[in-house]
Amino acid sequence: MTEELTKKAAEMLLQGATLLSEPCPYCTGVRVIKEGQALCVNCGRQPEKKEIPSENQPNELSAIEKIFEKKLENLSNELEHEKDHEKQQNILKTINALLETAKKMK
Ligand SMILES: [Zn+2]
Repeated sequence: MTEELTKKAAEMLLQGATLLSEPCPYCTGVRVIKEGQALCVNCGRQPEKKEIPSENQPNELSAIEKIFEKKLENLSNELEHEKDHEKQQNILKTINALLETAKKMK
């Protein structure tokens, strides 16, 4: 996972993206989705735009996924307001670790 992708994922989360319960078809990585556009935070691929069936709506997320989502949202906000570059790196690392953990739970 590259730093650039993590940043992009964080940006998407800031803009209201959610974690996609379905793993990346290419590398089984964790994906974030916004307006039907999914981005794999592992390989960076954006598979074809598709309609998300209702069962993939956030209210169907498991409790632990909801916690992750909330955590990521908080971290994304922190990242947005953090001016210190070193602290930004730390936040990105935490986001990275969270996404890695989410991936392992799949
Ligand atoms: Zn992937």
